[in-house]
Amino acid sequence: MINLLDFDHDALTALFAERGEKPFRARQTLRWIHRRLVDRVEAMSDLAKSTRETLARDAEIHAPAVVRDSVATDGTRKWLLDVGGANAIETVYIPEDDRGTLCVSSQAGCALDCAFCSTGKQGFNRNLSVAEIIGQLWHANRALLADGVTTPWVEQGRHPITNVVMMGMGEPLANFDNVVAAMRIMLDDDAYGLSRRRVTLSTSGLVPAIDRLSEACPVALAVSLHAPDDALRDALVPINRKYPLSSLLAACVRYIERAPRDFVTFEYVMLDRVNDAPEQAHRLVALVRDVPCKFNLIPFNPFPNTEFRTSSRNRIVAFQHVLQEAGLVATVRRTRGEDIDAACGQLAGQVQDKTRRRAHRIHAVAAS
Ligand code: SAH
Ligand code: SF4
Repeated sequence: MINLLDFDHDALTALFAERGEKPFRARQTLRWIHRRLVDRVEAMSDLAKSTRETLARDAEIHAPAVVRDSVATDGTRKWLLDVGGANAIETVYIPEDDRGTLCVSSQAGCALDCAFCSTGKQGFNRNLSVAEIIGQLWHANRALLADGVTTPWVEQGRHPITNVVMMGMGEPLANFDNVVAAMRIMLDDDAYGLSRRRVTLSTSGLVPAIDRLSEACPVALAVSLHAPDDALRDALVPINRKYPLSSLLAACVRYIERAPRDFVTFEYVMLDRVNDAPEQAHRLVALVRDVPCKFNLIPFNPFPNTEFRTSSRNRIVAFQHVLQEAGLVATVRRTRGEDIDAACGQLAGQVQDKTRRRAHRIHAVAAS
């Protein structure tokens, strides 16, 4: 079976061409799936009957199944989705007054192993397919509409989700092709029609892929900085050993030349007594001198067995002041969905970690 959620506009056009169908059928089909959010080929009533019948024979619309659905006291909602092979991923809806944001996952687990990240601690299992990535947006819009969510924009006939952040589980640039195809569907006027400013990709700093993204699909960029110098960043974000700060910041400057926004957002997780001293804020100011940027300070969200603690409110405010005094825009991210473990860095899903299972087996064999 073909899963139609795997196809962006170009891929669908190619599929229809192969089948001797008119190219405009691709547009019609996209609209049915992503605007009208239908889940059956049979429902696409303005497709020629013959097209519909052939399509229904070998094509379906299939998003990952919901394993758990939790709603936090602040309205944040998290779905745990089954992606097969004992793996599950999470997607989080964050309602605000003027927007509905979906935090989307790109991989089951993550190979980059940042010291303070619960996803990273689980190891890596696999890349998500296009259908599994766009399926999160498709599913969330459908579920919210089915539950009768009311927002001013839904009343005007738009989808509940107005913004997407690629900040769920995984490193989106490590699953480049599938993430780009999924984001093209997000931007496509015949699908979700989100503007490039409303789709943000967050990366831990895969430099060559940042350059490729500026060519393939320049959306808003967020970069996980977390440290003012290479020594500390090497320890917190191991990919820094491969792409150190100087090369990362140069890539940010190149990106801005093509991006829909004229700044990069730097994310900085506030870890008590690790990276939150005023002196480190001063060094950060000097470090980003040549990069048009804004800072988003994220209070560390703890998870079981972590060695880190969240910075105190006072230390966060003091750090923020140093940045602001230097003329930088620095906001503190409000933690959402804490009571359902939906906050940044708490997305754990359920990843079958083959590496660790193998290690356990090796130890077991060695011990016997
Ligand atoms: N892999 C990408 C995107 C996913 S993580 C990246 O690293 O950028 C989204 C953001 O949450 C990143 O800035 C990440 O560093 C941050 N984060 C990870 N663990 C966290 C935690 N426990 N508390 C707060 N933020 C965390
Ligand atoms: Fe992966 Fe991002 Fe977590 Fe680092 S912070 S381990 S890159 S998901």
